[in-house]
Amino acid sequence: MDSKERIAAALKVATDTKVFEMGEGILGRVPEVFKELFPGRKAVVVADINTWPACGEEVFSRMTAAGIPTEKYIIEKEEFHAEWRYIEMVDKLLDGDFAEAKRLENDPAYVEADAKTAFRKPSDDFFVAVSVGAGVINDLCKLTSQHHGQGYICVATAASVDGFSSFGASITYQNAKQTFECAAPTAIIADINVIANAPKWMAASGYADLAAKVPAGAEWMIADLMGTEPIIPAAWDVLYPRLHTYLSDPEGIAAGDHQAIADIFEGLTMSGFAMQAARSSRPASCCEHLFSHILDMTHHRFHGKLQSHGIQVAVGTLTMCAIFDEMFKFDLTKLDVDACVAAWPTIDQEQMRAIEIFRNFPAPKLGYTEITKKYNDADTVREQLTKVKTVWPEFKKKLQAQVWSFEKMQKSFAIVGAPTDPSDIGVTRHQLHDMFEKVQLMRWRFNALDLAKRGRYYDELVNAIFLPGHAWDINEEKPFK
Ligand SMILES: [Zn+2]
Repeated sequence: MDSKERIAAALKVATDTKVFEMGEGILGRVPEVFKELFPGRKAVVVADINTWPACGEEVFSRMTAAGIPTEKYIIEKEEFHAEWRYIEMVDKLLDGDFAEAKRLENDPAYVEADAKTAFRKPSDDFFVAVSVGAGVINDLCKLTSQHHGQGYICVATAASVDGFSSFGASITYQNAKQTFECAAPTAIIADINVIANAPKWMAASGYADLAAKVPAGAEWMIADLMGTEPIIPAAWDVLYPRLHTYLSDPEGIAAGDHQAIADIFEGLTMSGFAMQAARSSRPASCCEHLFSHILDMTHHRFHGKLQSHGIQVAVGTLTMCAIFDEMFKFDLTKLDVDACVAAWPTIDQEQMRAIEIFRNFPAPKLGYTEITKKYNDADTVREQLTKVKTVWPEFKKKLQAQVWSFEKMQKSFAIVGAPTDPSDIGVTRHQLHDMFEKVQLMRWRFNALDLAKRGRYYDELVNAIFLPGHAWDINEEKPFK
């Protein structure tokens, strides 16, 4: 199968996205696709000060030349994240209230409105968004289009994240990074000439966000074995059989090779289609992403700057590869299931533990809510551990075929220019160590750390990666550069 055939097959399992076109010099397709999908509607091109010159201006003039009534909106903030303020701003754009949108963008006294009030009754008078950008702009257009009961077109400007084709938008609201339900873009147009021209760190970021699927896939395999979230073949098959091939040319990414960058973009988009097929982000994200979510929720900055999604995820990905390296050293056929079950805490104890751990966190109830959802009773834990114990030798081999070693992942990241150490994003190894207990608790989905908790090897496992000579030797903190 070539790329076009793979994309055609993937679109069959994608529930929201109807069109995905990738190629060199294909911006002329934007007005054509718009007319097909949104006949008679008017458009607003949403860009920022970087993506406007990158291709927003060209998209705008091609739309106008094609006779489509088109407005433009350029976000002028140097730095903006996916926060509720900008959701309200783009909501106003789609309403056609451009002045109010600009006011919201710059309002120093801004107060978040209630998210529930954002939904409008669909109307053909609304503008249809043509999002020109990478992760953040796309997420803003995605959720606001949902609020307006309509689709939108995403013109990608960088191979930086997997969010282009995923449903759901990850937005900070009431101090917590939350995933809001919303449909993926109706169409994605990816001009590889534009994408290859994006700043180098963006492709490195995308490479890392795609590499995150290496440990995330293994954690899905664990959840599947535990019976909590079975693998969905349609979702798995869109991405995983080709994942290692997509990631196989870090040198090409570093050199700006168009084919290598197209491969990463395809892989990232496929992971979004996998999410659409699964109706969950399970195929694309597990613990490695949660380290990044903690940094987002605590407004982490390095050298005064917020760090991009993929760049933060790189550190989580390396960390989880290190966890798997250590996990493979345990012989889980020797689990003492009776002792583990006897020591298994009650739900009350787990809730208390979560409240304690998240006490000073911006979202103090998060751990409580999630552990309440994912708590298993002692009988279930007995079944789960018995299963792992029985199948461990073969299951371990399957996991090893999925996960890369820390060393291999770190080498690839060094080549593409992604972080190879937490210090690269302004995080110490001590801080990383302290994040673990939150990571284990902060999402309802079963992860590798949940298994370790059940098997009573959690402390030993987590501490192992910080030992002398191991991945993040805690005595070898690297100075921030
Ligand atoms: Zn991601």
